[in-house]
Amino acid sequence: MQAGIVGLPNVGKSTLFNALTKVGVSAENYPFCTIEPNVGVVDVPDHRLQILADMEHPQKIIHATVEFVDIAGLVRGASKGEGLGNKFLSHIRNVDAIIHVVRCFEDENIIHVDTTIDPVRDVETISLELIFADLETIERRLERTKKMTKSGDRTYIKQVEILERIKDELENGIPVRKMSFDNNEEMEFVKTLDLLTYKPVLYVANINEDEILDSENNKYINSLKQYAEREGSEVIPICAKIEAEIADLEDSEKLAFLKDIGIEEPGLNKLIRKAYQILGYITFFTAGPKEVRAWTIVKNTKAPQAAGKIHSDFERGFIRAEVVSFDDLVHAGSQIRARELGLIRSEGKEYIMQDGDVVVFRFNV
Ligand code: GDP
Repeated sequence: MQAGIVGLPNVGKSTLFNALTKVGVSAENYPFCTIEPNVGVVDVPDHRLQILADMEHPQKIIHATVEFVDIAGLVRGASKGEGLGNKFLSHIRNVDAIIHVVRCFEDENIIHVDTTIDPVRDVETISLELIFADLETIERRLERTKKMTKSGDRTYIKQVEILERIKDELENGIPVRKMSFDNNEEMEFVKTLDLLTYKPVLYVANINEDEILDSENNKYINSLKQYAEREGSEVIPICAKIEAEIADLEDSEKLAFLKDIGIEEPGLNKLIRKAYQILGYITFFTAGPKEVRAWTIVKNTKAPQAAGKIHSDFERGFIRAEVVSFDDLVHAGSQIRARELGLIRSEGKEYIMQDGDVVVFRFNV
């Protein structure tokens, strides 16, 4: 699963993407990975890993990762094939979440494609292109599904009804993620349509460097926040230029620099964690003297499938999972003490994994 970075030209996408790829992953954890130039694999910062490592003193710490894709070139008219329009829309179709970078910084030297700084207008420009693309998808689907209703099958009649509802709302400029659906069945059907405006979005407000400590004072960000809130999305402020500078520093210089500008951690960390979240991911841990490791699963994954992330044998021969929550483990101080205190639960194959579970899987070989 990947998060795609989109936005109008000159808003700071490449600056942000380059900062992300510089932070990157520890190369030792990705030894055989060849990645395309516009894809960046990035460690997800998670303070829990260090706490687990302090307990276990492992040889290795392995982070969860997120993949970012740089999708440059989206301009007004993309859905009509302007610029490299259709190609970029198809890149967006391949990602699972959208990181939408919006310019909220003023800089006379950097031209804005629409002259003035106006984040809501910019977001709507891109949103409109995605809506046009979705309308095309819906119209094609509607035509096909209408033919199918001739068989009298209720399923298709229902689908036509949903498709027409979506079409109406799209025509009113409403993205699909803002629409409400009656039940799970409807939502499952909508998912299969693979619509661009149904993908979760995180708005990144690219602000000036002198605003990072009080981004609320940025005169553009509040209108963007209100816009995002109405569709249930979030905005995070970032100064891409500063993030690029931080990413260039050696670890030893980083702390001093952050202290100097008055922040605890790079804004990128928050961005990466949010991207992980909107992709629908949660983390479970395995922790021992060899390695402490964060594993990525989607929400509502059951124990055997989580075990399968580690090795397919673990899933096939699954017997049970011995689980302690991260908080309980920290409270106990060690896995041995957690066992003595009865904090380690034995969970079966129906157990739904929770974020922060520290797990040992038992399985038959
Ligand atoms: P893209 O076209 O969206 O990929 O934008 P770029 O990342 O190439 O940035 C366009 C220009 O804006 C470059 O000259 C960047 O150095 C500059 N830029 C990016 N982020 C910021 C920022 O936070 N503040 C200021 N002042 N300039 C920035």
